[in-house]
Amino acid sequence: AQLDTLDLVVLAALLVGSVAYFTKGTYWAVPKDPYASSATALNGAAKSGKTRDIIEKMEETGKNCVIFYGSQTGTAEDYASRLAKEGSQRFGLKTMVADIEDYDYENLDKFPEDKVAFFVLATYGEGEPTDNAVEFYQFFTGDDVAFESGAAAEDSPLSSLKYVAFGLGNNTYEHYNAMVRQVDAAFTKLGAQRIGTAGEGDDGAGTMEEDFLAWKEPMWVALTEAMGLQERESVYEPVFCVSEDDEKSPEDESVYLGEPTSAHRDGQPKGPYSAHSPYIAPIVESQELFTVKDRNCLHMEISIAGSNLSYQTGDHIAIWPTNAGAEVDRFLQVFGLEKKRHSVINVKGIDVTAKVPIPTPTTYDAAVRYYMEVCAPVSRQFVSTLAAFAPDEETKAEIVRLGNDKDYFHEKITNQCFNIAQALQSITTKPFNAVPFSLLIEGLNKLQPRYYSISSSSAVQKDKISITAVVESVRLPGASHMVKGVTTNYLLALKQKQNNDASPDAHGLTYEITGPRNKYDGIHVPVHVRHSNFKLPSDPTKPIIMVGPGTGVAPFRGFIQERAALAAKGEKVGTTVLFFGCRKRDEDFIYQDEFKTYQEQMGDSLKIITAFSREGSQKVYVQHRLKENAELVSELLKQKANFYVCGDAANMAREVNLVLGHIIAQQRGMPAEKGEEMVKHMRSSGSYQEDVW
Ligand code: FAD
Repeated sequence: AQLDTLDLVVLAALLVGSVAYFTKGTYWAVPKDPYASSATALNGAAKSGKTRDIIEKMEETGKNCVIFYGSQTGTAEDYASRLAKEGSQRFGLKTMVADIEDYDYENLDKFPEDKVAFFVLATYGEGEPTDNAVEFYQFFTGDDVAFESGAAAEDSPLSSLKYVAFGLGNNTYEHYNAMVRQVDAAFTKLGAQRIGTAGEGDDGAGTMEEDFLAWKEPMWVALTEAMGLQERESVYEPVFCVSEDDEKSPEDESVYLGEPTSAHRDGQPKGPYSAHSPYIAPIVESQELFTVKDRNCLHMEISIAGSNLSYQTGDHIAIWPTNAGAEVDRFLQVFGLEKKRHSVINVKGIDVTAKVPIPTPTTYDAAVRYYMEVCAPVSRQFVSTLAAFAPDEETKAEIVRLGNDKDYFHEKITNQCFNIAQALQSITTKPFNAVPFSLLIEGLNKLQPRYYSISSSSAVQKDKISITAVVESVRLPGASHMVKGVTTNYLLALKQKQNNDASPDAHGLTYEITGPRNKYDGIHVPVHVRHSNFKLPSDPTKPIIMVGPGTGVAPFRGFIQERAALAAKGEKVGTTVLFFGCRKRDEDFIYQDEFKTYQEQMGDSLKIITAFSREGSQKVYVQHRLKENAELVSELLKQKANFYVCGDAANMAREVNLVLGHIIAQQRGMPAEKGEEMVKHMRSSGSYQEDVW
C-alpha cells in the first residue's frame, strides 16, 4: 500500500513517541566491521588501530552525546541504541553509541562541558560487571582513580562531566543493580553532574521495559534543561540503506548466507574462538533424558577437540542458534519478502558512525534465519511504529489502537505470546510489504547465543563439553499456541537428526540443520565458552553442598563426575551432598542411573537427597529437604563446606537462601537476622555460590 503525504505527517507524530524502539544494535558505535575478520572483531577499537580517545572521536565525528553500554545479552546495548536514536530524532543531539570496552577512561576528567555521556550498564550474576565493562568498573571503583591529568579524587576531577545513568538488573539477585549504583556513587564522589535520576530496570519483576520508559521521559526533560535543547517533531529516518543487488547471486563467495564472520564465510576460521567468532563444533552424541513423551530434556556431548577452546568445570557454553524454518517463512511472508527471499542485499549505515549489526552482503532469508531475533516477545512501541506502513486504513487504525491502549495490547498480543509476525498475522492476512527492511533491522535484536551450564568435568573429559537443556515448549495461560524456545528446539531437531528419530523435525519447525553452505552438516553447532566463577573448592577433601533441581543439576553433574573420578583413583574426597528435585522419580529424575555409578565410586561421601514434587499429596521441593536435613547442613558448614545453588533464579534460589539463613540461626541458637547475615557473609567470601537464570 502506498502512503500519502498526509499519512506520513500524521503518523510522524506517533513516531515521536515510538522512535525509541527503532534502534537495536550499535548503530552509532565505532565504525568497525565485526564481520571483517575474527581478529579485528575482538576488542574492536584497540585491535583495529582506531582511537581509544572518546573525546577525540566525538570531535572528529561532530558528536555531542555518547551512549556507552555495558551489555552481556544485548539488552543494554539495545537500550543504548534506542536512546541514541531518540536523542537524535527528538532533540537534535548528535549521538553515538559506544561499547564501553572500546574506549579509555583516564581522560574523562577532560570531557567537554557542552557534551553529555550516557552510561547504560547491566549488572551480571552476583553484582558483577558485564564482560565488556570489567576494566571500566575496576577503574572507577578501585582505591585510586588515576586520571591522565593527575587530578586526585578530592579535586572533583569529573566536574565537567554531565552524565546520564540507567542500570539493568534483577531484584532476585543479592546485589540488585550493583553496577549502576556503584558507578553512580563513584561519579558523584568525583564531582560529575548527573542529569535526571540513575534509572534502574528490574528483569526479576518483569518490568524492565516499563521501568526504562518511565525513567527516560523525566530524564529527557532534565537533559533538555541542562543542555538547552529543543524538542522537535520527528519523522522516521532510516539508519541503514538497504539495497537489493541484482548483480550478485546468493552463490557468490562474498555473500554471507548465515556465517558468523568472514573467516567462517571464506573457509574454516582458525580461532581464537570467542563471543565474536564461534567454533563450529561437532555434536558427537545426543540423547533424551526424560521418560515422558510430552516434555524433552537433552543431554549433548559437544567436541572441542583440536579447537584450542578449553573449559573448566562450572563454566558456561554459549550455543548460537538458527531460527526455525516455519518462523522464517512466516516472517518473510508477513513482510512481503517471500518471493525475493534469496535476493542479495547490501546494508550500509547512513551515519558515519553507524555500525551494521548483520553481516553484509547477505540475503533476506539468511538475515532472518541467522542474524535477527524474530521470535521474541513484541513491544507495544515497535508495533505502533509499523502503523505508518500498514497495508490498509483498517489495519492502521487497529495498530494505532494497540499502540495507544496498553491493556488492549496486553490482551491481544502479549498474553497471546505472539512474536512480531504472529502479532501482525492476528491483525490482518495482508502482507506489510511497505515496511522498510532497515526498520526491521533497527527494531529487532541481533539473534543472541544462549548460555548453558556445562554439565561435565574438564578433569574427566577436557575435549568434550556436556550440556543438559530442557526444551522450551510451553503454553502460557491465555495463549492460543505453544511457545517454542529458539535454541532448545533447534537442539532438539539436531538430536532427532543425529539419532534418526521417528519424527526427525521438532514439531514441524524445519530447521536448516546443515547450516550456511552445508558447513554445519554432520551435526555441528556454533559455540563459544564463557568462563565463570562457579567453581569447586581447589581442595577436593573440602565438603560441598549443592542444590540443583531440574536442569539446575547440570553443573553438579560435572562436580560429582570430577569427585567420583578422584575417588575411583583412590584419592580422598570430602562429603558431597546433592539436593535434587523434579516432578516424579520415573519421569524426570535425570542422570539417575549415572548417579548410581558415582555412588559406587564415592561410597558414603556422596549423598543424593531427592524431592519429588508430584509423587505425594503434598508438593515437596528441595528447600523442604534442606530444612529436614538442617543438622547435616549445619555440621558441614561448620566444616567449612562450600554451598552451591543452580537453576531457577526467581523462586527456588531465593527460597534456598532464606531457608539456609533459618537453618544457621536455628542450629546455632542465633536470632534470624544473624542467620541471614551469615549467608551474606558466605556469599561475599565465595563459600555460597549461585549459577542461576
Ligand atoms: P527462547 O526463545 O530464548 O525463549 C525463552 C522463553 O521466553 C520461552 O520459554 C518463553 O517462555 C519465552 N518466550 C519466547 N518467545 C516468546 C513470545 N513470543 N512471547 C512470550 N514469551 C516468549 N537452560 C538449561 O536448560 N540448562 C542449563 O544448564 C542452562 N544454563 C544456563 C546458564 C546461564 C548462565 C544462563 C543465563 C541460562 C541458562 N539456561 C539453561 C537457560 C538457557 O540459556 C535458555 O534461556 C533456555 O534454554 C531457553 O532458550 P531458548 O532459545 O530455547 O528459548
